[in-house]
Amino acid sequence: MANAFWCIVEDDRQGMPKKVMAEVIGEAARLAGGQVEAVWLTDTASDAGLKQLGEWGATRVWLLENAAYAPYRSEVWAGAVAELAAKESPKAIFGPVTSRQREFVARLAARLGVGLAADCVGFSLADGQLAATRPVYAGKLLSKVRWRRNPWLATLRPNVFKAAEEQAGRSPAVERPALAAIAATTTFVERREEAQTGLPELTEAEVVVSGGRGLKGPENFALLEDLAKVLGAAVGASRAAVDAGWRPHRFQVGQTGRTISPKLYIGCGISGAIQHLAGMRTSKVICAVNKDPEAPIFRIADFGLVGDLFEVVPLLKEEFKKLKEKSG
Ligand SMILES: Cc1cc2nc3c(=O)[nH]c(=O)nc-3n(C[C@H](O)[C@H](O)[C@H](O)COP(=O)(O)OP(=O)(O)OC[C@H]3O[C@@H](n4cnc5c(N)ncnc54)[C@H](O)[C@@H]3O)c2cc1C
Repeated sequence: MANAFWCIVEDDRQGMPKKVMAEVIGEAARLAGGQVEAVWLTDTASDAGLKQLGEWGATRVWLLENAAYAPYRSEVWAGAVAELAAKESPKAIFGPVTSRQREFVARLAARLGVGLAADCVGFSLADGQLAATRPVYAGKLLSKVRWRRNPWLATLRPNVFKAAEEQAGRSPAVERPALAAIAATTTFVERREEAQTGLPELTEAEVVVSGGRGLKGPENFALLEDLAKVLGAAVGASRAAVDAGWRPHRFQVGQTGRTISPKLYIGCGISGAIQHLAGMRTSKVICAVNKDPEAPIFRIADFGLVGDLFEVVPLLKEEFKKLKEKSG
């Protein structure tokens, strides 16, 4: 429908939208006053997935279901969504900040010849004009931007916006538009799946426990994993730990890694360099464990524990375990 707010679905590749979509749809609904539609590019949608999008508030789902949409290729996605947008004239197109949508929405903006506000942490509407707030200079400043014309394209940082409340039983209208044949200029040569850690994904986790050079070696990340299991947390790392080969790059938090905004961030043996803070300073509560009381991370920490992480982390794990047992 013309003037709708579109939300590009990030899914789990198994037919279900990821929970970050509740935040994207929730924020779009707040701004659009309800006229929110989801656009889902997939090779395997599921009825449960469609229903979930409806319960989060999407009134319509544009279902682009085609084998060519998975695995993801930005050129294919951008071509399809640009064609649909030209026909339907959405007012805004939102997506979550994920590896693929970061790339895809930028390409879509170029195709449509419109502006993109990436990594947004807030929106406001005044006189029918949307303004987006986004961090700049590694998170040291917040800038407010507006678009010259529609559609307003934006990516939304996970764990910042209020998730939509589920409205049980609501189901969306499902449209399966006919689009031109998809011409890809790249072909897949090899695809490798990441090994599952059994812990939540870094960018979506509500709690993140991160380790830095202070861990002294890759084997000691087991300490953080033990704590993470108790908290249902993801495990992140500083660049120093990643550069040393202790963790793969996908776990790196910071300017050249992932940007996260969990409810609780626990940094262990991390000094708090500006490039690290760029990736986690919007966390709601920051806790730091460091043996150096002068470590810069304590300047932004809500809770600072000065001590040896090899003593503190196991104690934290035991205390959290007791608290969890107490609260049942
Ligand atoms: C262009 C550019 C991009 C960058 N991008 C990133 C990025 O994306 N992410 C990132 O993290 N960094 C990034 N960096 C690197 C960044 O500048 C720092 O070098 C890096 O973050 C340091 O990692 P660290 O805190 O683990 O190590 P260090 O700075 O060496 O800090 C280790 C800390 O551990 C503490 N410690 C040691 N032993 C213990 C113990 N037993 N118990 C408790 N505490 C202990 C020490 O007191 C120290 O504070 C980037 C740098 C550049 C130039």
